[in-house]
Amino acid sequence: MHRSDHGISFQIQHTQASLPTIARRKTATAIVGGVPIGSDHPIVVQSMTNTDTADASSTALQVAELARTGSRLVRVTVNNDEAARAVPEIASRLADMGVTVPVIGDFHYNGHLLLAKYPAAARTLAKYRINPGNVGGKRRDENFRTIIQIALDNDKPVRIGVNWGSLDQDLLTALMDDNARSADPRDAKEVYIEAMLQSALRSASMAEEMGLPHDRIIISAKVSGVQDLLEVYRQLAARCDYPLHLGLTEAGLGSKGIIASTAALSILLSEGIGDTIRVSLTPRPGGDRTEEVRVAQQILQSLELQSFNPQVTACPGCGRTTSTFFQHMAEDIQTYLREQMPSWRERYPGVIDMRVAVMGCVVNGPGESKHANIGISLPGTFEEPKAPVYVDGKLMVTLKGETIVPEFLRILEDYVEKTYGARTPAAQA
Ligand code: SF4
Repeated sequence: MHRSDHGISFQIQHTQASLPTIARRKTATAIVGGVPIGSDHPIVVQSMTNTDTADASSTALQVAELARTGSRLVRVTVNNDEAARAVPEIASRLADMGVTVPVIGDFHYNGHLLLAKYPAAARTLAKYRINPGNVGGKRRDENFRTIIQIALDNDKPVRIGVNWGSLDQDLLTALMDDNARSADPRDAKEVYIEAMLQSALRSASMAEEMGLPHDRIIISAKVSGVQDLLEVYRQLAARCDYPLHLGLTEAGLGSKGIIASTAALSILLSEGIGDTIRVSLTPRPGGDRTEEVRVAQQILQSLELQSFNPQVTACPGCGRTTSTFFQHMAEDIQTYLREQMPSWRERYPGVIDMRVAVMGCVVNGPGESKHANIGISLPGTFEEPKAPVYVDGKLMVTLKGETIVPEFLRILEDYVEKTYGARTPAAQA
């Protein structure tokens, strides 16, 4: 702990590479369509489509879009005959587009029927998501066993995905009754959480009793409240070594969804809990579905767990930068980086770790720029109209006039070429 100008702050333990040490909870490794999920592997970002799966063309396009944004697994709902019939066509359209992302099937109520009736869909999907609360009333166990048998026949992993909103009501009622008879009854929420955990863990045991290998099971237990999610996942993490799929369900619209998901996931990930994540945002009508992938990546990158894109440090601006020039410049640089990344990622290994600083004035500008790989500090409103550019901590040039932005982008491009162009994957290994 050290004292700063702003009071007391805590220091994170850093490794030699200056990254925070977050010890992952030890888990088995499940392979989903070639993507390993577990503590020995990087945390996997995944997403889910919101197209009608029966519309193979739109669904394949959205899966491709999510995959190109960086989603390493994409889930589609398989809710009826038309959807199940469309699965192989979606896969073949993806293959035609050169997209190899594993596609996961999300099943509720009729998964046992659809997977049995459409063996091509069962073969094509990389994993089946089963919700133990939604596999059928009286014949729940039988239906669950049918899905597990099909998973066994096709060598597929499953996710046992319990959800707060669709909890196994018989199990919940039994636990509530036991609790009511207890001499020291627990709070109803504790019983609810226990029911979620038992539903997931009992289903996993049942699957293993049927012969599904331990390392073909992933578990999730999603709720919509941040504190509840922390409680559920901490207990789940302590009671099993299955890889965990982490996500806040029904996170919501816009900034509320992003902030709630970030708050919940960041705490758990910092405790080493979570092997694959999904951010469940509600897009605005006609909104961009890929936002959930970018938010998930940004959570991991902000926690310094993985790098996906160069990071731009931009000051918020204040009364010292009253013109919009600074805002336009920050946005232009961010947009430029985003547009270059698809080709830079291929050509310049390591560029994802680059840090770019775009600062509004000399107060923090030079200091922050020196900490970045490359940084520019604009003149504030009343300062001399010149913009020093720092490269690897050293003042390289001072730009002036109307062409500050294009000149800076040229310097940036040269820097990327010189710094990362020489690094081939073989040289890095
Ligand atoms: S760097 Fe300058 S412009 Fe940016 S917030 Fe700080 S004082 Fe304001």
